[in-house]
Amino acid sequence: MLDLALEIAAELIRRPSVTPEDGGCQDYIEALLQPYGFRRIRIDRGGVTNSIFLRQGERAGCLAFAGHTDVVPTGPLIDWPHDPFAAVVENGMLHGRGAQDMKGGIACWLAASIRLLRDGVPIPTMQLLITSDEEGESIDGTIHIVKHLQSHGMLPDAALVGEPSSHRIVGDTVRRGRRGVMQVRIRFDGKQGHSAYPQDADNAIHRAIPALHRIIDLDWGNPAAGFPATTCQITNLNGGTGASNVIPGHCDAFLDIRYNPANSADEIESMLRNACNAEHVQLEFDRVADAFATPDGPFLDSVTRAIRDTMGIEPRLDTGGGTSDGRFLAKAGIPVAEIGLTNATIHQIGECVALEELAALSAIYASLIRNFEVNG
Ligand SMILES: [Zn+2]
Repeated sequence: MLDLALEIAAELIRRPSVTPEDGGCQDYIEALLQPYGFRRIRIDRGGVTNSIFLRQGERAGCLAFAGHTDVVPTGPLIDWPHDPFAAVVENGMLHGRGAQDMKGGIACWLAASIRLLRDGVPIPTMQLLITSDEEGESIDGTIHIVKHLQSHGMLPDAALVGEPSSHRIVGDTVRRGRRGVMQVRIRFDGKQGHSAYPQDADNAIHRAIPALHRIIDLDWGNPAAGFPATTCQITNLNGGTGASNVIPGHCDAFLDIRYNPANSADEIESMLRNACNAEHVQLEFDRVADAFATPDGPFLDSVTRAIRDTMGIEPRLDTGGGTSDGRFLAKAGIPVAEIGLTNATIHQIGECVALEELAALSAIYASLIRNFEVNG
């Protein structure tokens, strides 16, 4: 399976595809999969290439794999040990932009699927959900694919995201969710005046302090399974004119909130409004990314089992890292797990992946596909 995964990964790397370009990667995948009974649904949007590759299964259930063909820019070419789009193999490593994030991961999924089909193994219905807009704005990519699946009654039973989630060894970490991010600006309004005549003024900092105390003391409750508690940090506090004898008329506080799925964005907003609990306060909320989580259950169990069977290790179910396209699938109610290559060189100059990692991840994916069941 390694030969096949390596060949596919190299072909993808040789098609330069810096966001939102696809560089012909999805056409290549289409040609590769066509002999095995996959058809392609193209749902491009806003300069982004999106494809659903679909194959009816011999077994019950529908398993999706989500990934992206776009890559981040190379940075200065002169600093690369090899041409980032040449896919050079040297000393057991494949070099090139996207080797880990995530053309390598896509190649492992393709190699695993093709290997099973060549061997005549009955497999479930398969969906390969590929966008060229993950590293950028993410507004015309996976979110758009999920809408298409939803409106056509095609949502899968479970989804794997092939982002490079592993830490030291392939399979040591599975992401089962991500924390949400909300940023908040709170403006406290008073009335500017002379500090010797406070009766004629209204100190905005004095309004802010008790409200911010209440915010610091908020009880966010117990976190969802596998998540750290919600945190709220005051990151900036600006008030005053700089003069020592002027009562400030305005004070701005900025909050950065990292929350787990036991708190909803709506709940957080209303808790903050209640904590401010006053007139002359304006709150602005920026919902940067929603929290999502896949609960304990048969799908996560099956992912753990596939890793245990192929690698002989017990993965850590984790919620760390930045946000990912998994959030769009999870929002549609689909159990999502992220399992991919290691991430030591992602987005770096000299991105590369060990060939043994490609072999390991292909084996994990093959085991997952082979043993996938509708409820597990
Ligand atoms: Zn990625």
